[in-house]
Formats: sequence, structure tokens, C-alpha cells
Amino acid sequence: MNTDLQDFSHKRYNILTGEWVLVSPHRAKRPWQGQNESVSIESRPKHDENCYLCAGNTRINGEQNPDYKDVFVFTNDFAALQYDSNSFSSIEGLLKVESEQGICKVICFSPDHSKSLADMDVQDINKVVKAWQNEYTELGSKDMINYVQIFENKGAVMGCSNPHPHGQIWSQSTLPNEVDKKDKHQKAYFSQTKNSLLGDYLKQELKANERIIYQNEHFVVLTPFWAVWPFETMIIPKTWQKDITSMSKTETLAFADAISVITKTYDRLFECSFPYSSGIHQAPTNGQENKHWHWHMSFYPPLLRSATVKKFMVGYEMFGSPQRDITAEQAVKRLRELIN
Ligand SMILES: [Zn+2]
Repeated sequence: MNTDLQDFSHKRYNILTGEWVLVSPHRAKRPWQGQNESVSIESRPKHDENCYLCAGNTRINGEQNPDYKDVFVFTNDFAALQYDSNSFSSIEGLLKVESEQGICKVICFSPDHSKSLADMDVQDINKVVKAWQNEYTELGSKDMINYVQIFENKGAVMGCSNPHPHGQIWSQSTLPNEVDKKDKHQKAYFSQTKNSLLGDYLKQELKANERIIYQNEHFVVLTPFWAVWPFETMIIPKTWQKDITSMSKTETLAFADAISVITKTYDRLFECSFPYSSGIHQAPTNGQENKHWHWHMSFYPPLLRSATVKKFMVGYEMFGSPQRDITAEQAVKRLRELIN
């Protein structure tokens, strides 16, 4: 690797989105005088009678949660997308609009209010993975659903309003922006080379071994070369698979293991329940072959140098490009040291 990358300002290209990130390694040592977030160190009960996700509790719309024992999925009471809304589209001069239909679900990872994925054992995470697979299949099989977005917002700093371990699944009739970019770039590479863009990238990363954090038989956890968030990571299947339903049973367990390892490692980094947004990008469910897709899961954590200092995407990042000081390679070094 070019050693200039650790000393001089440069920009790195994201092969999946076609966007650039500005990297400023020479600034990494500047003193911090900005905002500190408060650390939430409250220890939570296993069951909270005021939590609308805990088993047996009544939600705001009056429905009662079942006495679930592992994973529980339900349709979001305040969904961002409507399933049976009117279909319309119009162009008036420069004003363009299209209706969007969809189904939004909430997935409780565990009945235990006090846990996060990092505290759950691999077998229990595996149940979450299976639920994701079922939802992708079921939602994706509906005519009007052409994409299924699985994600988790963890921590108050990420705007997560409820500490109960849970994620969301938003499915809709068109591709959202981030997915559309990745769809186009993977498709272009595939039509030129007949190979997987991410598969070829993974080969190069495994050879270089500079940004690999962890790997098991079927998955690699790495910090992508073009990472924007200080401790961003990506889980990539070693086999070229277009979506999460392509995994064998051994592979789902290996995926659960990879999730377990990276979330535990994150918690060790600043000795806190590490906040992040994570999500799975995979093939659209639009009835096409989508051979060019290589699914992957990304973690975008906001923390920068401690449990109380987070990265802000403001100023130049709003008006120009995302920017980071600590390089991907320096972040990987820190994370690698924390893997048990
Ligand atoms: Zn709860």
C-alpha cells in the first residue's frame, strides 16, 4: 500500500456508489474541543412494563404483543409507507412526483429488554438471520414490493427511541437511492467482466490483508477502502450470493458469528454499548435475475474517539463530500487488537 495514504490528504473512490470520500490523515492528531455526547450507562431490566416492544405489553395502537420467546416481527404501527394507497405519478413542468407503496415491519431480536446483538449468543442471532430471510422472501414475493431494506438503528445517538433490541424492515415498490447506486455500479461491472464487483474487491482485500478485521469459513468482516464513518465495517459473504436467502444453514450460522464478533468488538472499543446504523444491501425483488448483486451488511457507527465524541456530517460534508481524519487502515488496527 502506498504509504502516502497515511500522511497526506487524498480522496478514495467507492466502487459501489461511484462517490468519493476525502481522507485527511494529517489532521487525526488535532485536539478535540467540540461536543461530547453523554454516555448512557443505565443498566436495563430484562422486562420493562413501559416498553412497547417487550413481550405481553400493549402497544400504542392497543394491540398486545404475544409472549414471544425469541424473535417477534410485526407491522409497524406508524409505518412510513402505505400498502394500499393510491397509485399516481405526474410531471408538472419541473415538478415530478410518483406514489410509493410499501410495508414496514419491526423485528424484535430478543424478548430480553436488556440485551443487544452484542450480548446475544450466536444461536440466538441465527434466529434473527432466519427471520430476516423469511421476511425478505415473504415481502419480496408480493407483486408491488420490489425491494426489501433490512436495517437497525442502535443507540440514542442514532436517533433510536427505544433501547429494546430491535431492527426494522422497510419494503417498497421502487429502489431507494443508495440501493439504486449500488445496483447500477454492480450491473455495469458485471456486464463488462461477468464477475462480481464485490467478489473481485474481496479477493484484492484478502490478498492485501490491510483492512480485514475478521474472517470465518464463509464471511469476511472488513473496513472498506472507501469507508466514510470512523469505524465503518462491512460483512461480505465469500461466495457470490445475490441475497440472504442464498445462504446454506452452515452459512447463516457463520453470518451470525460474524455479526456477533463485530458487535462485541465494537462494544470493547470505547467500553460502551456501541451505537450504529447497520443494514443489508441485497438484490431487488423485482422479478429480474439480478445476477450482478453480491449482498453485504454494513455498519455505520458515529463514534470517533471515545464513547462521548461522535463524528458530525456537517459543513463541507453537507456541501461537498464526506471527509474523515483517521484512515480506514488505522481504524482496522484498533479493531483487530480487540478481537478475542
Ligand atoms: Zn422492551
